[in-house]
Amino acid sequence: MDAFEATRWYFNQAADHLDLTDNMRTLLVTPQRQITVEVAIEMDNGEIGNFMGFRVQHDNSRGPMKGGLRYHPEVQIDEVQSMAALMTWKSALVNIPYGGAKGGIAVDPHTLSHGELERLTRKFIDQIHDFIGPDKDIPAPDLGTNADVMAWIMNHYSRYAGFSPACVTGKPVELYGSPGREEATGRGVYLFTRELLKKLGRDPKQTTVAIQGFGNVGSHAALFLHELGARIVAVSDVCGGLFNREGLDIPALSGYRKENRLIKGFPLGEAISNDELLTSDVDVLIPAALGGVFTTQNAREVRAKIIVEAANDPTRPGADEIFNERGIVVLPDILSNAGGVTASYFEWVQNRQHFGAWELPRVRKELERILTDAFDRVWKLRGRKNVSLRTAAYIVGIGRVGRATILGGI
Ligand code: NAD
Repeated sequence: MDAFEATRWYFNQAADHLDLTDNMRTLLVTPQRQITVEVAIEMDNGEIGNFMGFRVQHDNSRGPMKGGLRYHPEVQIDEVQSMAALMTWKSALVNIPYGGAKGGIAVDPHTLSHGELERLTRKFIDQIHDFIGPDKDIPAPDLGTNADVMAWIMNHYSRYAGFSPACVTGKPVELYGSPGREEATGRGVYLFTRELLKKLGRDPKQTTVAIQGFGNVGSHAALFLHELGARIVAVSDVCGGLFNREGLDIPALSGYRKENRLIKGFPLGEAISNDELLTSDVDVLIPAALGGVFTTQNAREVRAKIIVEAANDPTRPGADEIFNERGIVVLPDILSNAGGVTASYFEWVQNRQHFGAWELPRVRKELERILTDAFDRVWKLRGRKNVSLRTAAYIVGIGRVGRATILGGI
């Protein structure tokens, strides 16, 4: 089952509860538009670099489409389709006026120089500028992209359309970005974990956590959970993991990663593999890297009691069924990582009004209000309908998109 089929499988679980007809299901699940472009650039050595870029625009019934841009060698169209659909349900779930989209370029950004990365980003915008914009489709950071990339997008798009800071979010704070946007997805993961522990009657100070992926999302989630008193015993990145039963020194590790990009070589922990991290004996497991990490091959080996899906699409349906059967509580991606798009919405609203950015305390307060509302709604629906948290989250998201579609007219 590929990534898009997996997302469709989850969609159908919820659609059964909503009694949607086959035609309505097809309408809601099919992306509105898919763009595949060649992104050829001149490399520093004078040779031609050939890359492929994608943008999938899934749905705009509730507002302009919104979704991240991923730079990773394994970017493929089915994965982009899946993540575009997830963005539609996610935006609706937290009730912000966006549809869903996603994009990516099949490239390992760490093999490119700064100049090559900039040329690649600008060329991609040359290819898709007609299809994006503040009222059409608004990209944001994802795996392998960051605020620098967003700044190039704003600058390049503005050459075509005139000054347009709202055409992209996740920009540097010095260039129409919003304080708190960079930390927002990780902060959301922390807020949801905190709320979930409360509901399950667990004390954060007695809780151990393992996190796969120590990039933007994983490192911020780790820092906030560490501040809450949870013990982060294992983290990993693309080069492998680190384990310390007493709890890793997360502030020191974050500082180390900022300087060295990777966690490899950090002295205060023993080396473990990514597979060992996923099956380590912890209370909470947080995948915060790639999709498809939990499959029927490893789901029975997972020892965590709670999984908080910070990454997009980390659990294949077969693994999800095993987790449900084993009583492992899974907080689904469309809720767990919704902090990013919510803070992006704040940035976009301020950009549209040419309003100086909100300060961090206000961003955090608004973020917490929106995310905890969404969490409470999903938690209650789960109890009322006796379904998993994932199905409950999809029911809320799909229900809202479905109603907007019907009200707007087909
Ligand atoms: P990032 O590029 O900042 O960090 C990714 C991390 O994953 C890095 O530590 C990297 O080394 C690690 N990694 C890569 N391949 C790995 C592998 N095979 N095994 C273990 N670790 C690996 O990306 P990010 O922005 O933190 O995104 C992480 C996840 O969160 C993605 O699934 C993304 O779609 C999702 N997400 C991100 C945002 C956001 O605001 N950045 C919002 C919503 C969802």
